[in-house]
Amino acid sequence: MIKVDHLTKMVDGNKKEALRGISVQFEPGEMIGVVGPSGSGKSLLLRCLALREKWSAGEYTWEDKMVIRGGGKGSQKYRSQCAYLEQNPSLYPDKTALKNVLIGQAGQTSALRRVTGMVRSDDYMGAMDELEKFGLLDKAHVKAGKLSGGERQRVAICRALVHGANFIAADEPVVGLDPHSAERVLNTLRSLCAEQGKTVVAALPIELAERYCTRIWGLEEGKLKLDVTGRRLTAAEKRSVDLV
Ligand code: ADP
Ligand code: MG
Repeated sequence: MIKVDHLTKMVDGNKKEALRGISVQFEPGEMIGVVGPSGSGKSLLLRCLALREKWSAGEYTWEDKMVIRGGGKGSQKYRSQCAYLEQNPSLYPDKTALKNVLIGQAGQTSALRRVTGMVRSDDYMGAMDELEKFGLLDKAHVKAGKLSGGERQRVAICRALVHGANFIAADEPVVGLDPHSAERVLNTLRSLCAEQGKTVVAALPIELAERYCTRIWGLEEGKLKLDVTGRRLTAAEKRSVDLV
């Protein structure tokens, strides 16, 4: 079980409380859609859960491990188990899909690896396996700059998995994708949860959250207003997070 206790995030030089005492628990294998109006705190929540942002206060527990106590950002050991997928994943455009998967995310990779591009052969096989699972085998040797948006997003997911992510926070991962590519990305994320017990929390438009997620969180002004499992939202619930 993953437990978030009174997560608080101050921004703007500590003047503004952007996440206001969020407490929630979830389980590996859940796929959670985060909905809410612009500015409600979706991105900050995802970044805090993926340990990409310092918590101003609160406790974060994974199973019996205390990851954050009384605020902070957690240790690198835990950070490497979390992936943060941006809308437009930052890949090295001049390197192939395979190379991007292998060398990892900028800022998360050792300098040696980044410069030399050195990898072990079992890393190589692992990366090819992941690319194949996501229908990207024929793209392995294509430069990332030449891939479509959906393909880049799937390469970023592969990269996260190869580098040991169990928890994936995805911030509006299908914005700007055509419906077919969006479906492919979301099906990929869903199968990670259903088949591999990974945990995905994704900021999504309500229709997609209802279609793909097992659970929906509604944010409003930094507060968790809704937490609904296994069904669509009622009209009143949608209104409560200002979505209609
Ligand atoms: P959403 O993703 O739901 O649109 P965000 O998480 O980006 O919302 O932002 C939540 C609130 O926190 C907004 O009011 C935003 O202006 C504020 N905020 C987010 N990041 C920062 C920051 N680095 N500095 C100042 N304010 C911020
Ligand atoms: Mg956002």
